[in-house]
Amino acid sequence: MRNIKAEIIKEAVRDLFIKANYVISMDLYKKLLDAKEREESEIGKNVLEQIIKNADIAKEENIAICQDTGMAVLFVELGQDVHIVDGDFNEAINAGVREAYEQGYLRKSVVVDPLFDRKNTKDNTPAIVYVEIVKGDRIRLIAAPKGFGSENMSALKMLTPAEGVKGVKDFVVETVLKAGPNPCPPIVVGVGIGGTMEKAALLSKKALLRPLDQRHPDERYASLEKEILEMINMSGIGPGGLGGRITALAVNIEYYPTHIAGLPVAVNICCHANRHAETVI
Ligand code: SF4
Repeated sequence: MRNIKAEIIKEAVRDLFIKANYVISMDLYKKLLDAKEREESEIGKNVLEQIIKNADIAKEENIAICQDTGMAVLFVELGQDVHIVDGDFNEAINAGVREAYEQGYLRKSVVVDPLFDRKNTKDNTPAIVYVEIVKGDRIRLIAAPKGFGSENMSALKMLTPAEGVKGVKDFVVETVLKAGPNPCPPIVVGVGIGGTMEKAALLSKKALLRPLDQRHPDERYASLEKEILEMINMSGIGPGGLGGRITALAVNIEYYPTHIAGLPVAVNICCHANRHAETVI
């Protein structure tokens, strides 16, 4: 059993949310550079140039990539041989989020009650936390702040098994077309297939974490990712929604076994600021 102090977790969470909000990952940066080369529309090229310049400035000057610094989503892989000491795990995470959004000058965007008074919590807590117990004595933390311009464009559908591959393709493309310019394209499309309703939604969010240059290890899913990406990029929505070829940078699919009677499909759209940062304690 390895002891890890709650304070260490708090500090790691704080640093991760600041980093994720200031610096985009290298795979995403490279995709944007490549998209700028491939984009046929002049306006589209210009938008991509602005997006890249914005990412450069954010990194150099330690400022947020976007004003919407998102809801603080945190994926935790918690080793079963870890013992958290000197504090509470959930409190440590929320304290880390609080400090990140305060010290990093990040916008606080969370309201206490989603329906009635909608008062701001003023520190961007509570975080959305997903914990998976894994082997070992380490904790892997992945911070993924999520803006709502793109989150609001996400969707879920319970297909029938008979709708199959075509049903999945149609639903993903339909969701992207409906979103149009709202999720700040070029987007990354996370797709979750299978499980139950909520499992599919979670898979679609997890899919956004996979490096954009990595296709699914199963060749059938990898070719489905490529095909859906081509279909989306035929839409003409383009960078910034101002027309062009590059509407999406990647489609990442994750799947899970499901019930004989169902085929849940979730689409989690993320903007060009597909932010995440990780560490292992
Ligand atoms: S969708 Fe993304 S880029 Fe657009 S405002 Fe929200 S966080 Fe910013």
